[in-house]
This record gives sequence, C-alpha cells and structure tokens, in this order.
Amino acid sequence: MAEIIRNYFTPGWRADRISCVCGWEGDSSKMQMELHEEVTDYACPACENTLLIVSHPDMDQVRQAAADGNVEAQQQLALVEEALALHRKADH
Ligand SMILES: [Zn+2]
Repeated sequence: MAEIIRNYFTPGWRADRISCVCGWEGDSSKMQMELHEEVTDYACPACENTLLIVSHPDMDQVRQAAADGNVEAQQQLALVEEALALHRKADH
C-alpha cells in the first residue's frame, strides 16, 4: 500500500524511510519520482511498486504553511505573488 501525503508541507515525509514488500528500504530521494498533474508518485527503485503519493499543494495550503513559518512555502508564495503582480501589470 502506498502512503498518501495529502499536504505537501507535512514535515518529515521526504526523509522518512519506507520499506517495500520486496525488501527495499529507503527515503523519497532514493525512489523513482513521477510527476502528474495533481500528485507526485514515488516508486520503489527495485520493483517499481508505488510507495508514496504526494498531493501538490493548493494556494490555501501554501498560504497556511507560509503563515506557519515554512520557508519553502514562503518562497513559493513569493514566486506566485511576483507572477501575479507581473500579470496585473500586463493587463493595464
Ligand atoms: Zn520494491
């Protein structure tokens, strides 16, 4: 069974060691990453079994995490707000 991370900003999932049924064990940096529109899958590098499914954050989650002091969320929020500001300028 894959572990599902519903909030990207949940601390720790990146470094958590996960054991696969095939005997492989490791953290997300050792897994095979596959990007989809809504989620990113992480699969076992030995048998390609999906071990981790991480939902991409929506803007509310980014804002909340940024407000909670998450540095990565604050950087993402700054990028988004910069893009929005450029967009507004282009409109006028
Ligand atoms: Zn495996």
